[in-house]
Amino acid sequence: TQENNKKRNKPNILVSGTPGTGKTTTSSALAEATQLRHINVGDLVKEKNLHDGWDDELDCYVINEDLVCDELEDLMEEGGNIVDYHGSEFFPERWFDLVVVLQTDNTVLYDRLSNRGYSQSKLSNNIECEIFGVLLEEAKENYPEDIVVALKSDTIEDITRNMTTLSDWVRNWHPPA
Ligand code: ADP
Ligand code: MN
Repeated sequence: TQENNKKRNKPNILVSGTPGTGKTTTSSALAEATQLRHINVGDLVKEKNLHDGWDDELDCYVINEDLVCDELEDLMEEGGNIVDYHGSEFFPERWFDLVVVLQTDNTVLYDRLSNRGYSQSKLSNNIECEIFGVLLEEAKENYPEDIVVALKSDTIEDITRNMTTLSDWVRNWHPPA
């Protein structure tokens, strides 16, 4: 529709990936380097109650996707957002100029998630998700392939390199003609 064709002057980036791959670390560093706005969707869901209660089995909030999208629409239209969320499927495709999927070696990820005190089932669900590349598949299914980029996030050096890659991308971004 017409309404969806408004141009933004700054890009919107989605940073996705299995929990523990470094989305929040990467997003906050990138926000600092670029002056874009970091939106941690998990925190927002908690703060603004954009959920339908707690899922005991999955040990997480049942996110209300419509409420989250309504909450973010104006900011996304304005542009200049780094959206930090593990998944990518329920956001409107038109929101994003770049979709980053962070990936971590599963032994490294195992240690990170154990340090977080994840339960055994939550731990194995997430490790399996990473081994099967679920979130990269999801991103490729939901966005044009040329805006999806997978970045390795095993070490601090990876963070440094990703920061260079992503801040260069932001600097070189121009609104589509
Ligand atoms: P997410 O937001 O994806 O769940 P975090 O950014 O919270 O992940 O990172 C999880 C933990 O792993 C943190 O302790 C963070 O410091 C560490 N970490 C994340 N990415 C890396 C990396 N590339 N190298 C080393 N440690 C990392
Ligand atoms: Mn996080």
